[in-house]
Amino acid sequence: MKIIDFLKDNKPHISCELFPPKKWENLESAKAVVAETAALKPDYMSVTYGATGGTSKYTVDLVDVIENTHKIPALGHLTCVSSDRETVREMVSEYKKHGIQNILALRGDIPKDSGFEPSKDFHHSDDLMAEIKSMGDFCIAGACYPEGHPESRSLEEDLEYTKRKVEAGCDFLITQMFFDNNILYNYMYKLLKKGIDVPIDAGIMPVTNKTQIARIISLSGNLVPPRFKMIVDHFGDNPEAMKQAGIAYATEQIIDLFANGVNCVHIYTMNHPEVAGEIFKNLSFIAPRQ
Ligand code: FAD
Repeated sequence: MKIIDFLKDNKPHISCELFPPKKWENLESAKAVVAETAALKPDYMSVTYGATGGTSKYTVDLVDVIENTHKIPALGHLTCVSSDRETVREMVSEYKKHGIQNILALRGDIPKDSGFEPSKDFHHSDDLMAEIKSMGDFCIAGACYPEGHPESRSLEEDLEYTKRKVEAGCDFLITQMFFDNNILYNYMYKLLKKGIDVPIDAGIMPVTNKTQIARIISLSGNLVPPRFKMIVDHFGDNPEAMKQAGIAYATEQIIDLFANGVNCVHIYTMNHPEVAGEIFKNLSFIAPRQ
């Protein structure tokens, strides 16, 4: 099923993101995580893709299980930062072979190692979107950044390129995580002003331990609101309390989003189905599962 076919129906939608194992011997435990997450009945599930494609086979293995065993729409991520056209076409064909109709087309982060060779065929995600579009009738998602992408000189510049993604065939956008909903509301206003009116799936990261937050800020440059900082400062050294507080914070963010008409929420589960499960439980009457 194409995700875009239900994303616009004005009902609350919750999706979950997982990542593949790095090694074959961990594939079975990753499939167990998929099964536990699928039991929560998210509207769709996505699986990340290593920027340089090293774990691509496991991404395909997991999206296959999501789509064909658990019968939940799967969104396969695909990056192009170091791939040539042939590799990308092989991956898209692989998704097609497994009945995957939804692809999140990304450039990927530029690896810092000196031996890195950038793709000759793809410079940005819009190039990849155009390529996927030429290969069949896929539902294509793209990434967007409510606080601007770290490489962009300004949010305005980033919005301009986000518009190019939609023009290249992107059906909906999933946001980078944010910890203050007002950042998203302002961003959505700017998207609309720019003429970008595809559905926006709001990315929510339940921060359940102290080390996560330092990493998040260094990777994405996210603003951490004082309210959230107080929680991490106060509960960060008590793992159980931090987990409970992180789940409560993410739940509150989601309730506020739904209450303000943002109907689609994408949870970065970090392969913790028990954390996602608590959030789903907290939303059982707000976004009931069928
Ligand atoms: P692009 O859209 O190419 O944008 C990168 C930068 O270039 C931005 O500053 C943008 O403004 C600019 N730009 C865009 N188009 C153009 C253009 N045509 N000309 C000039 N400049 C342009 N990474 C992974 O490795 N694997 C994953 O599975 C993964 N999943 C993700 C899921 C989500 C929801 C999000 C938000 C991010 C994910 N990432 C993943 C991280 C992502 O790959 C990085 O943020 C990466 O740095 C940018 O990817 P992009 O697709 O947004 O790139």
